Amino acid sequence: MSDQLDQHDQLEDDKLDVFDKLHEECGVFAVYGHPEAANLAYLGLYALQHRGQESAGIASSDGRATYLHRGMGHVADLFTPEVLGRLPGDHAIGHTRYSTAGDSQVLNAQPLSVECNKGRISVAHNGNITNAAEIRRELEYDGSIFQTSSDTEVILHLVARSRERTLAGALREALLQLEGAFSLVFLAGDRILIARDPNGFRPLAMGQLEVSGRKVSTVFASETCAFDLIGAVYLGDVEPGEMVIVGPEGVTRERYAPKRDHAHCVFEHVYFSRPDSIVFGRSVQESREMQGRMLARECPADADIVVPLPDSGVPAALGYASESGLPFKQALIRNHYVGRTFIEPSQAIRDFGVKLKLNPVRHLLEGKRVVLVDDSIVRGTTSRKIVRMVRNAGAKEVHVRISCPPTVSPCFYGVDTPSVGELIAANSTLEEIRRFIEADSLGYLSLGALSQSVADDRDHHYCYACYTGNYPTELINIQELMSNRERH
Ligand code: AMP
Repeated sequence: MSDQLDQHDQLEDDKLDVFDKLHEECGVFAVYGHPEAANLAYLGLYALQHRGQESAGIASSDGRATYLHRGMGHVADLFTPEVLGRLPGDHAIGHTRYSTAGDSQVLNAQPLSVECNKGRISVAHNGNITNAAEIRRELEYDGSIFQTSSDTEVILHLVARSRERTLAGALREALLQLEGAFSLVFLAGDRILIARDPNGFRPLAMGQLEVSGRKVSTVFASETCAFDLIGAVYLGDVEPGEMVIVGPEGVTRERYAPKRDHAHCVFEHVYFSRPDSIVFGRSVQESREMQGRMLARECPADADIVVPLPDSGVPAALGYASESGLPFKQALIRNHYVGRTFIEPSQAIRDFGVKLKLNPVRHLLEGKRVVLVDDSIVRGTTSRKIVRMVRNAGAKEVHVRISCPPTVSPCFYGVDTPSVGELIAANSTLEEIRRFIEADSLGYLSLGALSQSVADDRDHHYCYACYTGNYPTELINIQELMSNRERH
């Protein structure tokens, strides 16, 4: 087993480029009817930076022309006052994205923008279109030429080729051909169009912002934390299977697809979203604290202190501490000026990364039996490094508690997970994982408790595929999706 696990470490070294373009983690933003549209998009993206740090972009329109700026890097570095000054107009869309290594990265940065028979259209996408490869093959067979390797580009081709005369009609037709996860924001000459897949995998919130007097501006964002920064009011979500058009005539909402069971990504509530956001109509902080409380009930530990792995483990650790009565201690300090190591594309940086990112408070850990709370174990290598770090800082025992069930299946709906071979829980027993991460004990939250903590009910179903392997949509090209991952 340990050979296998060491090999797993080696795999991690060798296959860092494993993250392919099919699995994008992103944030999207859109605004209509505000004289400072690009500035608002900038602020919105700034608040969504945690959803992707590799590239970002904003497209704006003043009704006459479209202005676009995108590039590699963080939002605050890319958008200087001069750049924002070159993005006039009162509607805009924005995107922040994690993408793969390679020369063509900037080509894949979004928004994508094309001139076609429906005028100039720009698009930003969060999610993953699972039948993109098939659609692309057919389109290429018919002579289409693609400029990027992003699944998002197929949408633009479908819109351009549609015989429908209006953009909304063409978009409706295009959306009905897509499978998988998509929260989309489009920018056209005089309007923005917003759409969400019928399962509602990825979040997409709608809000309103007062401009001046009685005028209001409509805004959309992956998470409501973007609204807080710009002072917008959260109105609710774009519904799964819904298309919203905001133009000179006002706001039009329509259902473009038949109703399907909802499959909201539960990982948004476990890890991905910010705790100060309302996601799928529920407070992320509330879900995470509840996960911690239920974890304390299901997996108690004979220990002295509860320590979170910052930042993602903090709310669950607070819940664990209050339920167990054990004191909560911030015994791992995070340096906030380092990117998340998980998504850094170079191994040299990643290995070093854990130490760069976290440092133990020896004074709090010395001689203590520690409950270490984290949100998830993917490959297991982070946990192992942290457990070692906590022990080296003097902890007597380290009990690892994870606020979700074991991650056993890759995500095809927009969360970056490695292939099955690299998911430690897909290939090892609980005891083997415990030994690998060198913990004194290990406990995961049960699926039932997770679904309770995110308030899963008849109207709001979640997708748990990463914990169960039950994918809520047919993955027609699953072989291709899998082998794509292996090739990288
Ligand atoms: P690992 O070393 O592969 O087990 O990584 C686990 C760590 O990565 C946990 O601390 C998580 O907070 C974090 N993590 C889990 N999933 C993701 C993801 N999709 N993107 C970025 N970080 C993640």
